[in-house]
Amino acid sequence: MRAVAARARRRRPRDRGRRRRRGRVRTDHVDGFTLDHGFQVLNPAYPAVRERVDVVALRMQPFLPGVGVRQDGGLAVVADPRRAPTTLPRTLRSGYVRPRELAALVRWAAPSVGPVRRVLEGSDTTLAGSLDASGVRGRIRREVLEPFLAGVLAEDDGGTSAAYVRLLVRTFLLGTPGVPAEGSAALPEQLARHVPDIALRERAERITPVAGGYRVTTAGGAVSARAVVVATDAVTAEVLTGVVAPTMNGLVTSWYATDEAPTDLPAIVVDGRRRGPVVNAAVMSAAAPSWAPPGSHLVQVTCLLKGQAPPEAEARRQAGQMFGVSPARWREIARHAIPGALPAQPPPLRTRRDVDLGDGRFVCGDHRDTASQQGAMVSGRRTATAVRRRLAGAGPTGR
Ligand SMILES: Cc1cc2nc3c(=O)[nH]c(=O)nc-3n(C[C@H](O)[C@H](O)[C@H](O)COP(=O)(O)OP(=O)(O)OC[C@H]3O[C@@H](n4cnc5c(N)ncnc54)[C@H](O)[C@@H]3O)c2cc1C
Repeated sequence: MRAVAARARRRRPRDRGRRRRRGRVRTDHVDGFTLDHGFQVLNPAYPAVRERVDVVALRMQPFLPGVGVRQDGGLAVVADPRRAPTTLPRTLRSGYVRPRELAALVRWAAPSVGPVRRVLEGSDTTLAGSLDASGVRGRIRREVLEPFLAGVLAEDDGGTSAAYVRLLVRTFLLGTPGVPAEGSAALPEQLARHVPDIALRERAERITPVAGGYRVTTAGGAVSARAVVVATDAVTAEVLTGVVAPTMNGLVTSWYATDEAPTDLPAIVVDGRRRGPVVNAAVMSAAAPSWAPPGSHLVQVTCLLKGQAPPEAEARRQAGQMFGVSPARWREIARHAIPGALPAQPPPLRTRRDVDLGDGRFVCGDHRDTASQQGAMVSGRRTATAVRRRLAGAGPTGR
């Protein structure tokens, strides 16, 4: 999604899709490998995806509805027995099915399966605080929940809003995350098909008020418009509009080609022993065979990015241990360090930040809703409604 000046009076040079739209969800195809820009998954249970996306056309390649967990004794599996019944014996053997710990987890997660309104309207606290309050402790928290959520939230201090995590857990219970067969960029490409007139590679530098609207200055010229939508990342939106950006959390992913699959388990794997910087790893081609050329396999290894990225060799070593193989012959084909991967979502959760600045400028993106593809899509829709309303002569929506 791009900063777009609505109803431009002067036409910009067009690019009808020859060059690709490149937001945070982007994909490169390198030597037969499909490489997303950082590891991310799409959950078909996101309400915005259910409403607006042709999921069948994406040819989703699902991961196991659960996780692989590296323990001292090997790779354990904890999966949803309803959706992955054949893994039930492995789940039962994992050592995490302990009545007291599970009861606490169910207590904590219970609001996730009730009405969304109840999660949003209830009191909020940090994830760590809410787990403590529900008595979630022990191995299932330390070895499974915390490492898994660190990768999803791009933070490991437990400071994220518990309400937000419960909404995420809800989507994990309702849908099985995966990746599109052609790479995650298939989603924005599908959405952008309905937007015929986008000028790409035009970096907005400044927005200046002029009679009847605004002038957006780019390196290549200027566009005047009655309404301007700033659909950039939060930090750029702050520069262009003054709307304060949240703290951004970072992730770094290495993509490795290998001749031997470290495992055929199509699962996101975490390190229950927590012996290094890796928050998750996965054999992508086990879930999505089209992501690697015949005879090769694709592995992703992701760490949190807090300032300096952890040394590649350290992450590779830990990932090898997680799968129980030597990573010496893995070939790193790309490394994506993304400091602004996800807006932080501290409590209290605010899912609907203003998109209409009330003066003909609009701001949208995941930082206005929730830190996800779902949030980005919802904010886009809210913004479109607000712009339409303004251009039709109605006042600001305040939403
Ligand atoms: C590594 C990683 C993992 C993630 N994992 C998940 C996940 O598993 N599930 C999930 O739901 N979400 C995940 N996300 C988050 C998700 O990708 C984002 O929330 C979503 O893509 C944000 O979309 P957006 O349109 O708000 O912003 P962006 O996609 O960042 O789009 C902003 C656009 O603005 C353009 N732009 C910036 N500056 C300017 C300028 N000055 N002028 C013109 N254009 C400009 C950019 O080029 C970009 O196209 C992940 C993100 C990352 C990076």
